[in-house]
Amino acid sequence: MKEIDQLLLANRAWSAEMLCENPQFFNRNVTEHRPVFLWIGCSDSRVAPDQMTQAAPGGLFVHRNIANLVYPDDRNLMAVLEYALNVLEVPHVVICGHYGCGGIQAALEGTVEGPIADWLDHARQVLNDHRREIEALPAGDEQVNRMVEVNVRDQLLHLAGTAPVQQVFASGRPLTLHGWVYDLRDGHIKPLMRIDRDTVLAEVPKPERVLL
Ligand SMILES: [Zn+2]
Repeated sequence: MKEIDQLLLANRAWSAEMLCENPQFFNRNVTEHRPVFLWIGCSDSRVAPDQMTQAAPGGLFVHRNIANLVYPDDRNLMAVLEYALNVLEVPHVVICGHYGCGGIQAALEGTVEGPIADWLDHARQVLNDHRREIEALPAGDEQVNRMVEVNVRDQLLHLAGTAPVQQVFASGRPLTLHGWVYDLRDGHIKPLMRIDRDTVLAEVPKPERVLL
C-alpha cells in the first residue's frame, strides 16, 4: 500500500475510535476552540507536540518552524502569537527545542545555503552570542545539544520582548512563557526556564545544562 493511502486509512480508523470513546467528540470540536497553550516548536517530524504531551485536539495551539526560532518580523509567527494571546487568551506559551536538532546543527556547521541559511540567521546569532561556551565543548553532539539549550533561552527572550507579550504582561493578565527541550532518546521533555511579568529580562541567566 502506498504511504499516502495509509495516512488516509489511519485517519478513518482514528475518527471511528474517537467516536466510539465519545459520540460527542467532534460536535464539541466544531463549536469550541479554547486551547490553554501556545506551542512553538521545531518542524522536525520526530517532535510531535500533541503525541508527546497526550494533548487531545483542542489542547494546543501550534506554530512550528525549523529550529523553533522567534523573529519579531515573522508575520506568520506574529499572527499566531497575536491570536493566541488576544483572542484565545492562552495563559501559557511554550518554546520547545530538541536535542539533535538538524537546524541547530546546520547553523553550527554552516553547511546550508539559500532559504534555509537565511532562515537560520537567528540560530547563527545564538552561536555568536555563546561562542566561547559552545566552542569549549567537544565538537559534535555536545556542541549541538548545548546550543539547542541556549537557543531555547534566547528565543524565549525574543518572545518575551515582543509587543503582544509585553502588552499582556502590562495588563496583569496571567501569562507564563516556558522554555523546554525534548530528548529524542527517551521521549522526556525537560523544562529549562520560565519567564513571567515579574522577570527582569536583562537578568535572565543561561539555563543549566540538563543533558551532558
Ligand atoms: Zn529541530
